[in-house]
Amino acid sequence: MEGDSRRYQRQREAMVKNQIETRGVNDPGTLAAMRRVPRHLFVNEALMDQAYNDHPLPIGEQQTISQPYIVAMMTEALQLNQDDRVLEIGTGSGYQAAVLAEIAYRVYTIERNRTLYESARKMFEGIGYYNIIARYSDGTIGWREESPFDAIMVTAGAPEIPKPLVDQLATGGRMVIPVGSSLSQKMIKVVKEDQGLHQSELGGCRFVRLVGQYGWRDA
Ligand code: SAH
Repeated sequence: MEGDSRRYQRQREAMVKNQIETRGVNDPGTLAAMRRVPRHLFVNEALMDQAYNDHPLPIGEQQTISQPYIVAMMTEALQLNQDDRVLEIGTGSGYQAAVLAEIAYRVYTIERNRTLYESARKMFEGIGYYNIIARYSDGTIGWREESPFDAIMVTAGAPEIPKPLVDQLATGGRMVIPVGSSLSQKMIKVVKEDQGLHQSELGGCRFVRLVGQYGWRDA
């Protein structure tokens, strides 16, 4: 892959081993995806050497690319199959969408910041992620025309679970979303079953805010 190198591949191997497997992520598809996606290409050139470190990084527009472990943990939680259609809210750098696109059939991703949307689209095209479809919009209302989705991932912190996203989840579908205050959230997993919704908590986290009609109302 262009722009990748042995050095970055080694850093990725170490990232998966020391940050992700040790913390208990063991889904083979998730681990393979984390080994493949060139995370350093999704950050600013000046930060490339930090791309595989154990923390989030700024991506401009006051937003961040999540810590690698958080990306892996959320990906595993979605229990993806290779024919799944996935919706992601908060494209940001595009890295998480690329990880999902390594595993699932198709990824629909929505970003409300035009600058980030444009640059992520270029990345997808440049690297060749043709199964990612990006949209510039408010993701809290979902993507009705393409619903229902087998899995939904929200990568910004919400005050509550946006109702349109629950409605757009297929029966048997899984969603992960950080819910809480703007300072700290709990990662919530929602499974839509025949009998109704099943919710569980996957631990504490801290994300930038989900801003929109069914999110935080102020920018
Ligand atoms: N998944 C990203 C990280 C996202 S940071 C990555 O892998 O890099 C959170 C992103 O959510 C920011 O880019 C922010 O602009 C976006 N966001 C916030 N509210 C949103 C909304 N209502 N719809 C779409 N994107 C939103």
